[in-house]
Amino acid sequence: MFSEDVIQQFGQQETPFYHYNLALLKKTLSACTQAAARYDFHVHYALKANFNPRVLEMIMQWGIGADCVSGNEVQKAAEVGFDRNKIVFAGVGKSDKEINQAIDLDIFCFNVESIQELTVIDSLAAAKGKKVRVAIRINPNVDAHTHHNITTGLEENKFGINSWELTDCIHVIQECDHVELVGIHFHVGSQITDMTVFKSLCVKVNEIHQWFEEHGFNLKVLNVGGGLGIDYHQPDEQPIADFESYFAVFNQFLERKPGQEVHFELGRALVAQSGNLVSRVLYVKHGIKKNFLILDAGMTELMRPMLYQAYHKIENLSKSESDFDAVKYDVVGPICESTDCFGKEVDLPVSERGDLIAIRTAGAYGEVMASGYNLRDTIRHFYTE
Ligand SMILES: *Cc1c(COP(=O)(O)O)cnc(C)c1O
Repeated sequence: MFSEDVIQQFGQQETPFYHYNLALLKKTLSACTQAAARYDFHVHYALKANFNPRVLEMIMQWGIGADCVSGNEVQKAAEVGFDRNKIVFAGVGKSDKEINQAIDLDIFCFNVESIQELTVIDSLAAAKGKKVRVAIRINPNVDAHTHHNITTGLEENKFGINSWELTDCIHVIQECDHVELVGIHFHVGSQITDMTVFKSLCVKVNEIHQWFEEHGFNLKVLNVGGGLGIDYHQPDEQPIADFESYFAVFNQFLERKPGQEVHFELGRALVAQSGNLVSRVLYVKHGIKKNFLILDAGMTELMRPMLYQAYHKIENLSKSESDFDAVKYDVVGPICESTDCFGKEVDLPVSERGDLIAIRTAGAYGEVMASGYNLRDTIRHFYTE
């Protein structure tokens, strides 16, 4: 819900632009850190969801760590001022350059995704005369029950080390003098709203944790990843993710040894609701069976609907829903691709050229996936506090 005042300010901006609601971001961070502190849980923010400088700055100020999936993200997190002792680096394809960069920055931990990667990190650390901390990313074979394109914890996915490789894995670790095993790491998928998925994850983590204990490893960290979902359908009614229930599930089902740290890596749940893509209607087109609203924003600004058939709530900010009969529009962008469509048969008030359109809940995996296809303008921003 936008106030009249904010809508008027939107009207003075060149469109399209990303609007970031920093007041809501602050409330979200407060809710998350409070809920985590109750159980002494540590939260890292997955930079890949949104690395807008103002957003990062605010997250960093809340004492949250950084979960990175590229050397440049590691570099960025360090530059913004995230505590290096709270930076972790995951990813199935870390290049030698990226590994060296992260070793030089003395980050907390590499989340290692294959046995071969372990040996590469070991030899690169050896060349620098350093010892680096690693956690093994294990594929727990837990079904996140979300869209198949955003499931990561099944045996058929490319991520992590499978449980049948663990014996080989610890043999390799024992031979590597330049890596120290500090923990185990899991991440099963994204946009998970069914808390039983996290309960199943806890059961798996307990089993694997036990296995490491039996093999003589005292793990300092259990990292359970991210994936907490948010409500794309009701951004105004549910602006803040259910952090309370989420952390409570882990507190109830995860078996933790005294002194052991539990780490989380949240991306979407921290930033999604604080971002909106604001656009204007360029043209209204009446087809034979369909009406089209053609916007000045397209897949070059927000790709989620085209990439994973993701739903985003679409609102006409220039008209009030109650004043007009609803019409069904296919809401499309200007890009020369038929897939450039934000929503089909969307109920909206009768709309016209120049109307302001908000595509809601676009703060996560939105701006970061923008592309320059069709030689589009770089992304513009507007912030409210
Ligand atoms: C993307 C990612 C996350 C964050 O996922 P969300 O669904 O945005 O919470 C956490 N950990 C790893 C390893 C990731 O790749």
